[in-house]
Amino acid sequence: MIEVLRIGHRPARDKRVTTHVCLVARAFGAGSVVVDTADRSIERTVEGVNRRFGGDFRVRTGVPWARHVRAFQGTKVHLTMYGMTLEDAVLRIPKAAPLLLVVGSTKVPARVYGLVDFNVSVGNQPHSEVAALALFLDRWFMGRELRKDFGGRLRVVPSARGKRVLDSEEEE
Ligand code: SAM
Repeated sequence: MIEVLRIGHRPARDKRVTTHVCLVARAFGAGSVVVDTADRSIERTVEGVNRRFGGDFRVRTGVPWARHVRAFQGTKVHLTMYGMTLEDAVLRIPKAAPLLLVVGSTKVPARVYGLVDFNVSVGNQPHSEVAALALFLDRWFMGRELRKDFGGRLRVVPSARGKRVLDSEEEE
């Protein structure tokens, strides 16, 4: 079980990036996202994707982040350009325990570094929470996440040209 915690969400500025954090988490094998600031529009967007494409991915917003990190039962990992390397981290992080992956938006409060079990860098250059999350999940699952079957109403058929989508409601 992997949960992603997005901290520093500003509804007026970060809707699109936080939505992408949620969609990447969902598509690449996490089970849920928790966002610190309340934002119903993000919850609605992800619920709409679940309805069409399947799965039971969950999003909660308006969750105080520090309390959530402290209460989490499992391994807490903060993705940051200053952390230990991703390569080392995937070898050292226990595989069986639930995982909380913390990503920021602007500068994260300094105490995050001390609240977690591992600070992990996806390369040591500044880039994006969306990219860091995608790469972490891909290394963690070793590519298996891309073959996950979501059992949704809409099913995309991989196609070299054009768009093939099966809609199970239209077949009935
Ligand atoms: N200047 C900000 C700072 O000092 O934290 C950078 C924020 S960055 C736009 C937003 C988030 O992306 C960070 O909080 C972190 O979670 C993630 N991130 C950015 N670069 C990363 C890297 N190289 N490795 C891991 N995570 C990274």
